[in-house]
Amino acid sequence: MSLAVKAVGVRKSFGRLEVLKGLDLEVENGEVLCILGPSGSGKSTFLRCINHLEVPDNGYVWVDGAIMGYELHGNVLQELSIRHLRAQQSQLGMVFQHFNLFAHRTVLGNVIEGPMVVRGLRRAAAEARAMELLEQVGMAGKASSYPSQLSGGQKQRVAIARALAMEPRVMLFDEPTSALDPELVGEVLEVMRNLARGGTTMIVVTHEIGFAREVADRVVVMIDGEIREMGAPGQVLSNPSDSRVRTFLSRVL
Ligand code: ADP
Ligand code: MG
Repeated sequence: MSLAVKAVGVRKSFGRLEVLKGLDLEVENGEVLCILGPSGSGKSTFLRCINHLEVPDNGYVWVDGAIMGYELHGNVLQELSIRHLRAQQSQLGMVFQHFNLFAHRTVLGNVIEGPMVVRGLRRAAAEARAMELLEQVGMAGKASSYPSQLSGGQKQRVAIARALAMEPRVMLFDEPTSALDPELVGEVLEVMRNLARGGTTMIVVTHEIGFAREVADRVVVMIDGEIREMGAPGQVLSNPSDSRVRTFLSRVL
């Protein structure tokens, strides 16, 4: 099995607050990993360290075999230029809780922006691919709508299509359904379930235990900046060995 993501000894503090206390993680190509944990445990910071939106104080992250944010010159690590960092980051598709769509662009405009600006695709090719992806997330019929005309679930499905348009190696989801009305959660999880079935490598921070149980290959529980439990969903969710994990799960299950 080949590794999509490998994190070794990732530490991050904000001032005196140590948010990540040395995290190690390996995610294989095609794997779906769900990260659970209480609010404030460092889940978002960890995702941001994986895609180098935050620079770890210690430790490194490899994506597809390359160290995020750095390149080797001889045997010396040098920071990537912004342009090269952006190119590297585009291997990671990011979906946020609050969609972050461009409000002044149509649905189609949102999905073609990255491929045209970052990857240099021509408009016709970008639009053709965008329409396929919008079809895949059930949003092709809204291609010329603006985000303000969409429900939260529809916005999130467009955000997923937009991330996929960059053809990332790995998709990172940060609580993609937490801002949605309950009746809209299912349509977004359905799109994610289909992606997982199609073999997309995914790291999903979520409170949707049912989704984790059903879709994840492995589940990680983070508490206070540490990985306290990691394993198959059945084992972690039904029979965790760590007492703090048991307490956390008893509150959310
Ligand atoms: P989670 O996603 O698990 O809720 P976060 O990673 O968002 O946790 O945050 C972990 C801790 O780090 C929290 O105490 C949060 O307030 C703090 N934190 C996150 N980002 C910053 C930042 N940019 N500056 C200062 N503190 C931060
Ligand atoms: Mg968070």
